[in-house]
Amino acid sequence: MTKVHNFSAGPAILPQSAIDASIEALKNFSGTGLSLIEVSHRSKEYEAVVEEACQLVKDILNLSDEYAVLFLQGGASTQFDMIPMNLLDEGETAAYVNTGVWASRAIKEAKMFGNVNVLASSEDKNFNYIPKNYTIPSDVKYFHCTSNNTIYGTEMFDFPKTEVPLICDMSSDIFSRPFDASQFDMIYAGAQKNMGPAGTTLVIIKKSLIGNAKRKVPTMLDYKPHVENGSMYNTPSVFAIFVCMHTLRWIKEMGLEAMEVRNKAKADLLYAEIDRNPLFEGTVVKEDRSRMNVNFVTTNKEHEAEFLKFCESKNLSGLKGHRSVGGLRASLYNALPIESVEVLVNTMKEFEASKNG
Ligand SMILES: *Cc1c(COP(=O)(O)O)cnc(C)c1O
Repeated sequence: MTKVHNFSAGPAILPQSAIDASIEALKNFSGTGLSLIEVSHRSKEYEAVVEEACQLVKDILNLSDEYAVLFLQGGASTQFDMIPMNLLDEGETAAYVNTGVWASRAIKEAKMFGNVNVLASSEDKNFNYIPKNYTIPSDVKYFHCTSNNTIYGTEMFDFPKTEVPLICDMSSDIFSRPFDASQFDMIYAGAQKNMGPAGTTLVIIKKSLIGNAKRKVPTMLDYKPHVENGSMYNTPSVFAIFVCMHTLRWIKEMGLEAMEVRNKAKADLLYAEIDRNPLFEGTVVKEDRSRMNVNFVTTNKEHEAEFLKFCESKNLSGLKGHRSVGGLRASLYNALPIESVEVLVNTMKEFEASKNG
């Protein structure tokens, strides 16, 4: 098989070690003589997987015992509901910042449960920047933000200092760089962008936030039973958590400092070519450019389809922009090697030469 360079926004590229371990486990999981996908989630071999995955998250982020780590189902999108259901009673207000489709969806869901104060939005410029000048009122139940806007290619590198609980959707940039996790009261991330296959969502939540809702919360949407049962209240996503565990081992081994160096090198290389090559143009305000999702366009709209075809011929995959914004998007998640970015940059140069020749 020819190597395909995978720039997909999600589900996305994973470390080869996680894929190889999954193939082995599908044949014979942990010496049980059973496949990973036919083994009981209550077996001691599998319980060890969930335990290790949670422990790795704690180790990588230096989490104190104040936090619970969960692997839930329903995608990051279910958290848009679980957060207000559990943390925002009727008549109370939560603050959100609107930085794109995912943030908008989180806002829409929260409005079903309480009052939502949208402190700032970048919708006026099709979400091509991160709003910064806003004040978080001290009387809101929590503040919610999205650290990386997967569809638009913007990323928050600083988080507001606030007394109110800080909640962040980190679906597309978690574990891409070091950050102080202790400033957050809750972090969540769908696995399929930077951590594993689709089917599980990492939730990191301060235990003190749990179990205080006045409304009746359906059991599966209540954090409490999931915490009390170590993500095993019901059958978890057995396969997806296994792959996450292996990705987390790889992340821990590399360390977040080294991960950031690697991710920054990849992003710098691609943005430098976008800025140099007259055939391409970035779409995001420079200081807010994401290291995970690089959005750009061809300066001549007619070149777009042709360039995508040219990329395909070079085994570059997943570069079409999200259907809601168009253009081009290269996702440079943790597992993408710098060689793939080099091939993309060379392809952009060749494309330029073909237009000048
Ligand atoms: C993809 C994505 C989501 C939605 O994730 P699902 O797991 O598909 O529900 C939410 N937030 C962000 C930032 C995303 O990139």
